Amino acid sequence: MPQLSLAGKGLVGIAGRWSRRAAGGMLDLLLPPRCLACTAVIDQPGGLCADCWRDMPFLEPPWCARYGTPFSHDIGKDALSPRAIAEPPVFDRARAATHYSGPARDLVLALKFSRRRELAGPMGRWMVRAGREFLGENSVIVPVPLHRFRLWQRRFNQAADLARAVAELSGGTYVPTLLHRKRRTRQQVGLDAAARQKNVRGAFAIREDLEGFVYGKQVALVDDVLTTGATVSACTKILKSAGAAGVDVLTFANADPAGVLE
Ligand SMILES: [Zn+2]
Repeated sequence: MPQLSLAGKGLVGIAGRWSRRAAGGMLDLLLPPRCLACTAVIDQPGGLCADCWRDMPFLEPPWCARYGTPFSHDIGKDALSPRAIAEPPVFDRARAATHYSGPARDLVLALKFSRRRELAGPMGRWMVRAGREFLGENSVIVPVPLHRFRLWQRRFNQAADLARAVAELSGGTYVPTLLHRKRRTRQQVGLDAAARQKNVRGAFAIREDLEGFVYGKQVALVDDVLTTGATVSACTKILKSAGAAGVDVLTFANADPAGVLE
């Protein structure tokens, strides 16, 4: 009776898979939801505990129209920081949901190094709020790319996960492969601003078959953290030389040493 026993096995297999899935679902119901940043028990899944919420260094207007760095008091909607006047950036606007500190820093590190990719959704939600002045259904949403070797090492690009979440929530078009890194660059950590610029010069390129696609489009360039802006500036130059109508930069956190309260 080989046929029957095979059929029996199949049924056991399906039943086994079903009961494992059901057990997994039951487990989710039994385990209390945890804070995204510190794992304290909370009421609703996908949020922060009261302490992390209080400590989350959200950035809010009034802020510099170009750099998105907060002002201590409101000096008008299109006000520019002294820095934006002295060194206007190549991108149009930069916006970040938070400063790079406290629970915001914990979330960035957990996504990138602990591979907690489920964090990209909630982080993306805060980013959409920060980028509301320029995000829309006509936006082309592009992550800062990793070199293929680093992508192979890390197995995912955290900027791409965030860009996908931002596109899903804002209705823009997600184009993950628009930019690529032509060469491997040193980690920017520990380099000063001039060295960072030199490190990324000529590192990026646009995918040839998508060059025409960028023409006349408003691009939102997405990364997890903005530091000196050297990387996003190098990407912006490539996008603008391909005819992008504008390039805005959207990050989860701002770690720019010059980006403190204006
Ligand atoms: Zn917490």
